Amino acid sequence: MGNKKIPERPVDFIREIIREDIKSGRFGGRVHTRFPPEPNGYLHIGHAKAICINFDIAKEFGGKCNLRFDDTNPAKEEEEYVEAIKQDIRWLGYDWEDRLYFASDYFEKMYEYAMILIKKGKAYVCDLSPEEIREYRGTLTEPGKESPYRQRSIEENLDLFERMRKGEFPEGSKTLRAKIDMSSPNINLRDPVMYRIIKKIPHHRTEYKWCIYPTYDWAHGLEDSIEGITHSLCSLEYENHRPLYDWFLDQLGIYHPRQIEFARLNMTYTVLSKRYLSELVKRKIVRGWDDPRMPTLAGMRRAGYPPEAIRKFCRQIGVAKTDSVIDIELLEHFVRECLNRTAQRRMVVINPLKLVIENYPEEKVEELVAINNPENPDDGTRKIPFSKVLYIEKDDFMENPPEKFYRLAPGREVRLRYAYFVKCTEVVKDASGNIVEIRCIYDPGSRNISQDKRKSKAIIHWVSAKHCIEIEVRLYDRLFIKKDPLEFPEGTDFTANLNPNSLKIIENCKAEPYLAGAKSGDRFQFERIGYFVCDPDSTQQKLVFNRTVSLKDEWQKIKKFFTSQP
Ligand code: ATP
Ligand code: MG
Repeated sequence: MGNKKIPERPVDFIREIIREDIKSGRFGGRVHTRFPPEPNGYLHIGHAKAICINFDIAKEFGGKCNLRFDDTNPAKEEEEYVEAIKQDIRWLGYDWEDRLYFASDYFEKMYEYAMILIKKGKAYVCDLSPEEIREYRGTLTEPGKESPYRQRSIEENLDLFERMRKGEFPEGSKTLRAKIDMSSPNINLRDPVMYRIIKKIPHHRTEYKWCIYPTYDWAHGLEDSIEGITHSLCSLEYENHRPLYDWFLDQLGIYHPRQIEFARLNMTYTVLSKRYLSELVKRKIVRGWDDPRMPTLAGMRRAGYPPEAIRKFCRQIGVAKTDSVIDIELLEHFVRECLNRTAQRRMVVINPLKLVIENYPEEKVEELVAINNPENPDDGTRKIPFSKVLYIEKDDFMENPPEKFYRLAPGREVRLRYAYFVKCTEVVKDASGNIVEIRCIYDPGSRNISQDKRKSKAIIHWVSAKHCIEIEVRLYDRLFIKKDPLEFPEGTDFTANLNPNSLKIIENCKAEPYLAGAKSGDRFQFERIGYFVCDPDSTQQKLVFNRTVSLKDEWQKIKKFFTSQP
């Protein structure tokens, strides 16, 4: 029933456009892209898509890609985010080299450009309040009304705009607006605001130097133009803004990059918007931006996602011109695929049950050889101590098993991974009837699996009680129970869809001693349990591991990955 085919990559219309531009000599055959985050939150997997597109395209065409912080709104931006964003891009595997820019470095230049537009009679100072501007704007079906300040003289506008910059007017009392067309069918062209006054909040880089700040529409094309960008790739919501992007550059008659829009990444069981993500952080629903349940790059790093898997995922979904929702299982598939190749195996018992081998000598310890990664022989082998008292997983024993249970049960036999066959002879219970220990006998001749004729339908993992170390395991699950967390009952909000079991902490898990050398960020497969990563909360006394993903590839069950694509 399962459809195992990875969804086909959509036709890459962006690369087609770029190839044509190169052929026709537009931009002199150059390719120069940019990734322009606003430093108002951490990057999420949607940004990863944009990063991969911009950096990959630059590389493929022998071009360049800038990292530019679009820091035009001091009310939301912070230095903390600048540093986090840089770290995340590097972690993802991309390098902007010496091409790090800040929109705020262009404020002076932008101001000069604004003066040029005023002098051309293409911009004016408007005294309407933000609410009035909205009212005057009209609707999709009705044209807007012209501002009573639209006919101010050029001289008056120049004077007022200079005084706006000097800080003579209170916040919200004046804006600079482009004089375009109040009845344009495209609302974005109805005299959009270019500058607003923001006074009491310091900018993270220019502090109080400026009290007028450019809007996205005014600033973005200028930033691209100043940097000599050729192809300004952005998400689909800017398609209706492109006429404005073009209008400003045309009016100024300056270098004119080409804006191309692509579909945003949406994914099931998560929200990809800084607004919602920062709410989760502020309301302490998660531990922070790097909580392993967050769809942020910092969260995914902490969850143990290899950056390679994220890059492969982004390349596979490719670029499309229509919005779609990608199943999160596709991302998890790439994570598993990568970890299966790269993560070393270890034995860890999460819910320990004591197993005593009655016919095994009291003090004897054997060093058994275990393969570190069957997918990668170069990873070699390690030794695991075996002794009389072991721990196995509680789930691997049943007192009254159904027929199809192939693991351990009274009178039944099972193979221990890298070790012997054991047969259960007795179940020990406490006063209230809980199983506290099981007793077995082992078959000393069964150690060499290739010489043993018996087939075991199950092979279970174990650790030696005397030698194991205790670790903390954090079992993370999806943060939301609903495919679309933004679909919530009236009177509630998206937190109504939170998964109450998205984190389960298990304190005293038993791990083979070899795991003691793990360092924060090291990734493993705990045999038969899942993929785990060593968490930075780990101390000398206790290692902490986060579950990255379970072993089960739910992907096989999935019919379609593009759930809402036409
Ligand atoms: P958010 O809605 O999460 O706040 P944003 O678009 O406001 O995102 P920016 O920092 O302005 O965040 O985005 C930087 C770049 O990343 C932009 O070019 C934007 O188009 C792109 N981007 C943001 N979210 C996605 C997404 N989900 N899929 C693809 N690209 C995205
Ligand atoms: Mg934005």
